Amino acid sequence: MTQRQLFLQNLAQTSDFPLALEIEKAEGIYLYGKDRKYMDLISGIAVSNVGHRHPKVVEAIKNQVDKYMHLMVYGEYVQSPQLQLADALVKTLATFRTSSALSLDNVYFTNSGTEAVEGAMKLVKRFTKRIEIISCRNSYHGSTQGALSLGEEHFKRNYRPLLPSTKKIERNNFEDLNKITFRTAAVFFEPIGGESGIRPAEENYLKALQKRCFEVGALLVFDEVQSGFGRTGKFWAFEHYGILPDILLCAKGMGGGMPIGAFIAPMEIMSVFKDNPILGHITTFGGHPVSCAASLATLNTIFDEKMLDDVEKKSNLFKELLVHPKIKAVRGKGLMLAAEFQSFDVLKPIIDKGIERGVITDWFLYCDNSMRISPPLIITENEIREACEVILSCI
Ligand code: PLP
Repeated sequence: MTQRQLFLQNLAQTSDFPLALEIEKAEGIYLYGKDRKYMDLISGIAVSNVGHRHPKVVEAIKNQVDKYMHLMVYGEYVQSPQLQLADALVKTLATFRTSSALSLDNVYFTNSGTEAVEGAMKLVKRFTKRIEIISCRNSYHGSTQGALSLGEEHFKRNYRPLLPSTKKIERNNFEDLNKITFRTAAVFFEPIGGESGIRPAEENYLKALQKRCFEVGALLVFDEVQSGFGRTGKFWAFEHYGILPDILLCAKGMGGGMPIGAFIAPMEIMSVFKDNPILGHITTFGGHPVSCAASLATLNTIFDEKMLDDVEKKSNLFKELLVHPKIKAVRGKGLMLAAEFQSFDVLKPIIDKGIERGVITDWFLYCDNSMRISPPLIITENEIREACEVILSCI
């Protein structure tokens, strides 16, 4: 049987039309198939921010594997890679304060973004003693039953019952802020909406959202699973706004290609997991030492190699070059971009042709008329020119 046949026969499929590209090797912004090279403009969906197999990340993984891999379930042993990563993450947040003047100094490591969402959902319920959780229309926070409860009807409908007491607000709609009340435990919010097709929040709106949450004692949770770790040109997307949430979630780009996520909160909040019952949230593999070592190398590499410095310039270059009567707009911040077309029917053949010509793009879960452009941050200006030429030729 061919690899492709095995893929279709033995691997659980989630659609009848998987991309099914066969990749043998990846490096930098490129994926290599048997007889062709692809430019990865989506980074495995906002994961490979520092590029595929960044040498510093690979080195950190190898060094850690030579010391130890899994030792014990979460939170029992003192494991250096976890501590160093937690310390580095907290340092990126040290100059900001939450609306209640606390600092985000406590990190709970998970295996994925969804698990960061799940953990944070439990945390806000336990801390506030409220059950209502609000999320934004067209937001995606993950696929397990808690995170899915915050998602859209289209994905939920056939998987009920899900969590009760969830509500939706419209991004950038000031009136909807009144839906946040004294019954609300938390608002889960992406400062820049990912799967809605890259929708930045307006600064005044985000300020008003934070104020409203503070007034009614609801916690503000920013889901930076997609927007964190430099994707938007700042290390955290919230830095564009200067608004620190009460709880911050990250994953995806965090691991430099390894699976890891985290929810980060003030110790005053996180400590509710410690009693009644003890072990309020547990995981076997969350914060795996090899993933933590990879993540620390990723974080350090972003700063050491000054990867954030020219993200805005690269973003502007995409916006400058992707001009065509069929492209209605290019929106987004940094290298978290969406190019909007008339419809999916117009966009899909362009994406397909792009892949045939060696440039991988995609669309969004909740926005199928827009092309996802989220390349590794290390893409060069020449590579951007080359990629845009291919996209324009496909149109
Ligand atoms: N939150 C956001 C904003 C996401 O974009 C995603 C995944 O796309 C998730 C959560 C879920 O993360 P994961 O797929 O790592 O579980």
